[in-house]
Amino acid sequence: MLSFEDALARCLDISVPRRKMQMDLNGTPGRYLSENLYTPQSLPYWDNSAMDGYAICRKDISSLPCQLEIVDVIPAGKSPSKSVKKGEAARIMTGAPLPEGADTVVIQENTTGISKRIIQIESLPTLGANIRRKGEELQEGMQIASKGDQVNIGLVGLCAALGLPSLPVYQPPKVALIATGDELRLRDQQSHLHRGEIWSSNTLALQAAVQEAGGEVIDCGIARDSTASITESFRKAQSLGADLIVSTGGVSVGDYDLVKDSLSQLGASIHFWKVRMKPGKPLALGSLGPIPIFGLPGNPVSCLVSFWMFVRPILRRALGAPNIFLPTVPVKLGMDIHKKHGRTEFVRVTLSENRDTAFLTGNQSSAWLSSIAKANALIKLPANTHFYPKGTTLDAILIPDS
Ligand code: AMP
Ligand code: MG
Repeated sequence: MLSFEDALARCLDISVPRRKMQMDLNGTPGRYLSENLYTPQSLPYWDNSAMDGYAICRKDISSLPCQLEIVDVIPAGKSPSKSVKKGEAARIMTGAPLPEGADTVVIQENTTGISKRIIQIESLPTLGANIRRKGEELQEGMQIASKGDQVNIGLVGLCAALGLPSLPVYQPPKVALIATGDELRLRDQQSHLHRGEIWSSNTLALQAAVQEAGGEVIDCGIARDSTASITESFRKAQSLGADLIVSTGGVSVGDYDLVKDSLSQLGASIHFWKVRMKPGKPLALGSLGPIPIFGLPGNPVSCLVSFWMFVRPILRRALGAPNIFLPTVPVKLGMDIHKKHGRTEFVRVTLSENRDTAFLTGNQSSAWLSSIAKANALIKLPANTHFYPKGTTLDAILIPDS
């Protein structure tokens, strides 16, 4: 049986194509740019007022206070209709284009209204004050982000301000999900369970995990425990254009664990089966032509942990992410941990508020989803170790939040 490290190395040997696409701006947060980005226009687009006040010709004013005739009112969104000459002012709002002739904006607080048509300037700012100049922030053609950068919310705002409808990013890999098991039911297809049935929790948990990783889900539903049904599901995944196939269940040694047989029937190659880890021992990696297949265990905790450890890095790499592994933080154990020899173990822990101490989430059974629902990190305990006293410093692998 493979060690965890060897299994991971084999998984990292496989690749999912990294494709480029133009994605609508609103879908891009969190994605990685596939090209450098340059601004198509200047920002601001034109000289405009940074404040509510009066646009004036400062160079023509020699003494204060001075009274000026209001010749125009320019709200944001309106183009000035008149130029401003000596002895004149235009009422102007924040963001409105500066009228011709004006060289300075006096803020409203430094003026006194004399009449509807006359404004008195009480104090003068420096020449050019309170004006945002065309191109002051960015000039046409400047680089605003680099290939490989992650699109953040601020960049989305900037690109929207520049009128860019879409961005060049790496395409989300398409991940086909197949649950296997005669006992599985979906909540949207049935309102209650008959004895012996369970809800297919892996279907929903994996959908969320794929989406968090940046992949696009192709839901291939539930295959029954027969090679005919499982092979049909794999064929469906293939025909729907999956870049990667993830199945759950049916990879153990039970009478109905038929995923491996089904893959053989399809002519898929199997790179390995079974890993010396806990949770997640039954795990198969294969490929159907160019499409990698992960046969994840059915036990819900094993399924999620093996997804995060083996599948997520492959998806992150296909997306152009610079860091493909989940982040880690050093923590101290808040309690003793005993471990059996032989298998790399991933225990579920809750971190203290300042994230420096880790506590086990209780029963660590591979079947207990509550142990992972409570957890915000995993701690990897290498294979041939057996005891970690309270206070030991270890790395905690942070579980994604959403
Ligand atoms: P298997 O590997 O198919 O023998 O499944 C191992 C355990 O995981 C069994 O108790 C299954 O009922 C359970 N299981 C398998 N698939 C799912 C699923 N999609 N959702 C929840 N539990 C599952
Ligand atoms: Mg099963």
